[in-house]
Amino acid sequence: MNMTQVFYQEKRKFICQRCGRCCRGPGVVKLADGEAERIAAFLNVSVERFVAEFTELHPRRICLVLQARADGGCRFLAGKNVCQINPVKPAQCDGFPHRWQFPGWREMCVAVETEG
Ligand code: SF4
Ligand code: SF4
Repeated sequence: MNMTQVFYQEKRKFICQRCGRCCRGPGVVKLADGEAERIAAFLNVSVERFVAEFTELHPRRICLVLQARADGGCRFLAGKNVCQINPVKPAQCDGFPHRWQFPGWREMCVAVETEG
């Protein structure tokens, strides 16, 4: 996902169409405090192993990010746009596009806006 110029629109709701584009786009998936521990527990591996095998340092060294595949997609994206860690996915993933967006996001995301 593109993480530049993030902003929030708390009141808007969207229904994700599971196109998977946000999991394949440029940018990084940042891990917030506690998320490495939560994902490691879900994967049933130690935190040390999860960090070593599934994460890397943010380009600006501000946090850990999920590793990307060679094609740039998230390494946890599988099959027909299935997130392998969906129940514990990072808040960055969970919040798009409900809680944050980026300039030009509508050219990529086909989520349907809803009233409720
Ligand atoms: S963690 Fe899941 S939702 Fe987030 S980018 Fe990776 S595959 Fe997509
Ligand atoms: S780009 Fe939008 S519609 Fe497609 S998977 Fe991501 S949030 Fe859902």
